[in-house]
Amino acid sequence: MIRLCISIMALLLAACSAPADIRDSRFIMGTLVEFTVAGADEAASTVAITAAANEMQRIENAFTIYGNQNNSVKRFNRSQVGASVQLPEEISTLLATALTIKRESNGAFDPALGRLNRLWGFSLPEAPTSPPSSRAIEQAMPPATCIEKRNSGWARLHETCMLDFGAIAKGYAIDRGIEILRNHGIANAIINAGGDIRLIGSHGDQPWRIGIRHPRNRGEVIQSLELQGDVAVVTSGDYERFYIFKDKRYHHILDPKSGWPANTAQSVTVIAKSAMQADAWSTALFISEGHPDISRNLNIRLLIVNNRGEITKNTL
Ligand code: AMP
Ligand code: MG
Repeated sequence: MIRLCISIMALLLAACSAPADIRDSRFIMGTLVEFTVAGADEAASTVAITAAANEMQRIENAFTIYGNQNNSVKRFNRSQVGASVQLPEEISTLLATALTIKRESNGAFDPALGRLNRLWGFSLPEAPTSPPSSRAIEQAMPPATCIEKRNSGWARLHETCMLDFGAIAKGYAIDRGIEILRNHGIANAIINAGGDIRLIGSHGDQPWRIGIRHPRNRGEVIQSLELQGDVAVVTSGDYERFYIFKDKRYHHILDPKSGWPANTAQSVTVIAKSAMQADAWSTALFISEGHPDISRNLNIRLLIVNNRGEITKNTL
């Protein structure tokens, strides 16, 4: 009996000595962002999470093209065609990265689809329930070369050219959130923004465990992963924002070549060093379904579920 009590006490002490995870969540960028910190003091973790969440909210405000608040991206989208416009350094840097990924993905990823995205309306407070007309789509499609560096600023080359960082800004915000946590001395944490994740360190003496959502079976995981260190895992899927019209699915990831939702995949998951890269490439490869010419030279790992629900590539 005495021995049993001692071992129960030892177990309790072990549980007490490992601090519990600190969790908090906020609604940012149209999704629930969950913060988990392991192995750190509660008060310090709470301060760090609040700072990280504030930074992510700041990034949403700076990059969004929706809502009533004004920002530099919206001003740029209203600027005169051909005029050079100064953008804040942070936006200019992300735009340059986005245009590089546009080139590397043969145009699959395009940060200048603002007008087309708005026409489809998946990010509007009330998304439409039927597709726009082919004529309206044609009129909203930007030319292949659309945004150009001009002196120290940027210029729109056509009335249809409007910036939309929707496929890369969430990843960038997650990266900044992790940076803020680190600046506050946090070494083990996960930021999970609606399934788009970056993690650092470990979960006690175990790796972090995460699940990749099945693109069709709600609540089901298609693959679980055990990861530690510094890794980002981001998924683009046709189940995130969509409607069914006349038995056909219409969703928020558009093929810039056709102006219609890309139809080769159900989901593409990318593991990369930064959430920004993983975010942009999961969108780009969703459109080109991991086109071997594009994905071969990238330093990323991939899970592709094609439009028939088959896993066609898995290097996770
Ligand atoms: P994600 O969920 O990261 O794949 O990004 C999808 C969001 O990015 C959409 O809601 C649009 O705002 C925008 N988007 C849609 N199609 C593209 C594309 N081909 N290239 C870049 N951004 C896109
Ligand atoms: Mg993306």
